[in-house]
Amino acid sequence: MSERDGRVVVALDVGGTGMKCALIRPDGAVVHTERHPTGADRGAEAVVDTILTVADGLIDTARTAGLTPTALGIVVPGIVDQTRGVAVWSANIGFRDVPLRDLAADRLGLPTALGHDVRAGGLAEARLGAGRDCGHVLFVAIGTGIAAAHVVAAAAATGAHGAAGELGHILVRPGGPRCGCGRSGCLEAIASASAVARRYTALATGTTGNADTTPDGGAAGPTVVTAAEVAGRAAAGEELATRVWREAVEALADGLATAQALYDVQTIVLGGGLAQAGPGLFDPLRTALRERLTFHREPRLVPAALGDEAGCLGAALLALDQLEDS
Ligand SMILES: [Zn+2]
Repeated sequence: MSERDGRVVVALDVGGTGMKCALIRPDGAVVHTERHPTGADRGAEAVVDTILTVADGLIDTARTAGLTPTALGIVVPGIVDQTRGVAVWSANIGFRDVPLRDLAADRLGLPTALGHDVRAGGLAEARLGAGRDCGHVLFVAIGTGIAAAHVVAAAAATGAHGAAGELGHILVRPGGPRCGCGRSGCLEAIASASAVARRYTALATGTTGNADTTPDGGAAGPTVVTAAEVAGRAAAGEELATRVWREAVEALADGLATAQALYDVQTIVLGGGLAQAGPGLFDPLRTALRERLTFHREPRLVPAALGDEAGCLGAALLALDQLEDS
């Protein structure tokens, strides 16, 4: 095996509950994967230490297998200043201005890139997945929240403050359900997977359905369902599920129509838990989006292709891009 054949980058996608880690060849082939708990409840400092220890272990694993780690890519949620390599803020991990790129580069001795998880996932979908060869792509991840990445010419726009793509906080229903950000009527308070589940449960049990309502707060414990179950019940014709699902689809269409007015993309790639609803989501969403567009071109609306590996692949692409730039 020549040295070139053995080159890999070390990629880490750090989430609120778990880290997905991989060794990835420059052509995108994944040669090794690992998963570790993030342990966010231990505080940011302990999480940083775990990230560095796990990355160190991956470097060892690569070398033991005769591979040559050339760079490290780490992606995290929240607000990320990619240029300075700083995890500026993260609600679920507790990062506050953590210079993670330099900490990793100093400890591990590899050129390191730090990026944002959804933007990295969007980059991977645009370059290797469902948005391949499309040029202008909007990747929208719909899970606990809703976030997006606008990818043009194979790069995801970061924004001036590392906060571009907060599609979930487009105001779509003034006075609507309260969002985790504190405002009422944000898109993700109605159409995220969590919101769909929460809203169905609230209507079924007569509670508020706001983002600050604990789903299991009632004494008797209301029925807790997932968004996928709501989608399934809607498809089976259940009245309440149909109503909640339709409201979510219409709110999503409002958000995507706004996004299309701003970005004029060729393809919108939907990922995250809700996108797994398949035709039950895509068919009515395409119709609702079409109804809202006037002179704007209708984008192709497609499911993500890379599943939950997208963030890790994106981390690898950031690491490789940085090698090319240097
Ligand atoms: Zn919000």
